Amino acid sequence: MSQAASHLMGVYNRAPVEVERGEGARLFAADGTVYLDCVQGISTNALGHAHPVLVQAVKDQAEKLWHVSNIFRIPDQEALAAELCDKSFADVVFFTNSGTEAVECALKTARKYHYVNGQPERIDIYGFDGAFHGRTYGAVNAAANPSYTEGFGPKMQGFHQLTWGDHEALKAAIANPTTAAIIVEPVQGEGGCRPVPDVCLRGLRELCDEHGVLIIFDEVQCGMGRTGKLWAHEWAGMQPDIMAIAKALGGGFPIGACLSTTEAAKGMTVGAHGSTFGGNPLAMAVGRAAFGELSKPETLAHVNEIAGYLKQQLHGLKERFPDVILDVRGKGLLTGLKLVPNNREFMAWARDGQHLLIAGGGDNCVRLLPPLNITLEEAREAVEKLERTCEAARGRMAA
Ligand SMILES: *Cc1c(COP(=O)(O)O)cnc(C)c1O
Repeated sequence: MSQAASHLMGVYNRAPVEVERGEGARLFAADGTVYLDCVQGISTNALGHAHPVLVQAVKDQAEKLWHVSNIFRIPDQEALAAELCDKSFADVVFFTNSGTEAVECALKTARKYHYVNGQPERIDIYGFDGAFHGRTYGAVNAAANPSYTEGFGPKMQGFHQLTWGDHEALKAAIANPTTAAIIVEPVQGEGGCRPVPDVCLRGLRELCDEHGVLIIFDEVQCGMGRTGKLWAHEWAGMQPDIMAIAKALGGGFPIGACLSTTEAAKGMTVGAHGSTFGGNPLAMAVGRAAFGELSKPETLAHVNEIAGYLKQQLHGLKERFPDVILDVRGKGLLTGLKLVPNNREFMAWARDGQHLLIAGGGDNCVRLLPPLNITLEEAREAVEKLERTCEAARGRMAA
């Protein structure tokens, strides 16, 4: 179908692939091409396409009950919340349909906390450059990427941006008596697979505790086992007060959640927030099935094994193709390559030449976001396809 005939709002530059069916790490296009899918709905289908446990969960629940809204008790919602809290720092959960809504809930929870805590002047939220928190107003203001905020009216009051690695500015922000919270991705996803050093996360916790400032983690992309621990912040041995998650939580079904300690959520009382669809029975049934698989120790062990292999192989590629690959980044299976050639072109060469699907990222990176259950065989295939893409890139750059 031609672009001109499309009735879709033109906000996406879509790859010329018509997808039809998926199975595990494979994506089958309408024209018969089979792709090795290391995008997986952007780090979302963490168990691959059409995982039998998830398919069964959808089928079973679809015949029972889809939606009732949150004016009724939803047993699977209470159960998934309990499972999430059992495996995290959190005491309470609010379910959403997307990552950006989980971020909105986190921002509102933080401001409302200070309001009910007798410090209504604490409204300032500090984010970092290169961050991505979603596309709703609060989320774009928190990340403050100009290409997502420009033209959309005045910048929202109380949102500020810190430069990555500027510790002095961060300290000053935390010491500011009007600061409500710091929002950060422990590993930046869209920004180009940048992990915050563990020591910085621990330092952040100490400083925030000292000044009564809340920490919001956005683990929408880096959570749910992607880094080889269930939550990315576990690597640093510290905990946030509030955390937004989504993407992999439903294994491809739209689910998000805002997790919080009881203390940080103390302003979120009846009427303070809500969602019609959030936490609906269908989503919760799939979420329980997906989270059950993702949180298994075997799943995390497998991620670490494959991630170790990939890291070694990608560093090898960087050594052989220093004219193509500048840097290997990321954590676990949130893997990034900072490139010399344009990342969009490289993605097209991988897709059209090798039938390998990879994602773009900030700072001229490409991201490999395979399903967490990708086999070693498939990971090897991905590396071979990347190697041939690097060869092709070298040829094209020489031409
Ligand atoms: C994808 C993403 C979001 C937004 O999630 P949506 O479901 O697209 O709203 C927020 N934060 C991070 C870190 C993300 O990767």
